[in-house]
Amino acid sequence: MAIPFIDLKSQYETLKEQIDARIHAVLEHGQFIMGPEVRELEEKLAEYVGVKHAVGCASGTDALLLPLMALGVGPGDAVFTTPFTFIATAEVISLLGATPVFVDIDPVTYNIDPSQLALAIRALETKDPSIHPLPADHASLNARGVIAVDLYGLPADYDRIQNTCSDHALFLIEDAAQSFGAEYKGRRACSFGDVGATSFFPAKPLGCYGDGGMVFTNRDEIADKMRSIRVHGKGNDKYDNMRVGLNARLDTLQAAILLAKFETFPEELRRRQEVAWAYTEALVGADGIVAPHVPEDLLSGWAQYTLRITGRDRADLQKAFQAQGVPTAVYYPKPLHLQTAFSPLGYHQEDFPESEQASTEVLSLPFGPYLSKEGALNVARKAMNGE
Ligand SMILES: *Cc1c(COP(=O)(O)O)cnc(C)c1O
Repeated sequence: MAIPFIDLKSQYETLKEQIDARIHAVLEHGQFIMGPEVRELEEKLAEYVGVKHAVGCASGTDALLLPLMALGVGPGDAVFTTPFTFIATAEVISLLGATPVFVDIDPVTYNIDPSQLALAIRALETKDPSIHPLPADHASLNARGVIAVDLYGLPADYDRIQNTCSDHALFLIEDAAQSFGAEYKGRRACSFGDVGATSFFPAKPLGCYGDGGMVFTNRDEIADKMRSIRVHGKGNDKYDNMRVGLNARLDTLQAAILLAKFETFPEELRRRQEVAWAYTEALVGADGIVAPHVPEDLLSGWAQYTLRITGRDRADLQKAFQAQGVPTAVYYPKPLHLQTAFSPLGYHQEDFPESEQASTEVLSLPFGPYLSKEGALNVARKAMNGE
């Protein structure tokens, strides 16, 4: 019996009635673009996250692009971020003609290392790449901001990151594409920094049935700009254009599906904790396997349950799992500073050793709120025996 990597089918079977009813309501009222469900979802999620404004948009990538555009990021601007993330995090910086400046991760949390961030800022300010690796065009760059990523659902170290950003007058964007529902010292993910950005890609903790995203902020001016940019830079109406924008709206149908799913999201989040606990309890102390660590006062959203495989060959273990119907995945096999797309930045192998090592050792197991504890224990046993 094969285990799905992420079980969207069981979720649909459980929520079918509510999801179908929500979809039908949209088909009946016919407001497919910016219908009432978009506003309803924005209000509910803003309240849940604990911020003033939520702006629905077309994807998690647009949720990162909108705030960068609203903040006026462009050529000559440096934006610090981690190379151990999905390409979208850094891609949006380059798309605007700005330059990503990579900063290595903490090997335990896989999130941006605040000490390295401070070094990178000093290196850029003094134009001295001997302090910290810098991109080829560093001499002409000004530090503008930071995009911190909550990898696998675990929030980054926001107390330290926010302090550093405040000291250097840098903006902070939280890439919470994987961490909707997570908590850091009693505050929910998507509420950190100037803007929090999340994704509703189907495999994320709160996923729709296509592409979708949302941006969260307490800052009125940034919220207004993002609402304008997502509809072609509209002013009073869409034929009054204040600025160059995008078509980056959230579909009404996707908002409707998310409203149905959001009702059980708190319960799903609770089950994610249970499944993660079952895995960790079974795997702690296993030879050559390091279970994920959640620091005190943090709650992971568990987008992924990711092990570090140290004492044995990861590819062999993946094959053994596959032979038993257990799919696994590697997020991410190549850090961004070594991607061809970013070769113009001029980074080298060994610039970010923790990210490079993690990329050779991480392995994500099947996971989700519809995986039973018994199912998780079964997978864990297979990992322990190295079968
Ligand atoms: C998924 C993801 C994105 C992009 O989201 P899309 O909805 O696929 O555009 C950005 N950053 C991270 C860390 C992600 O995991």
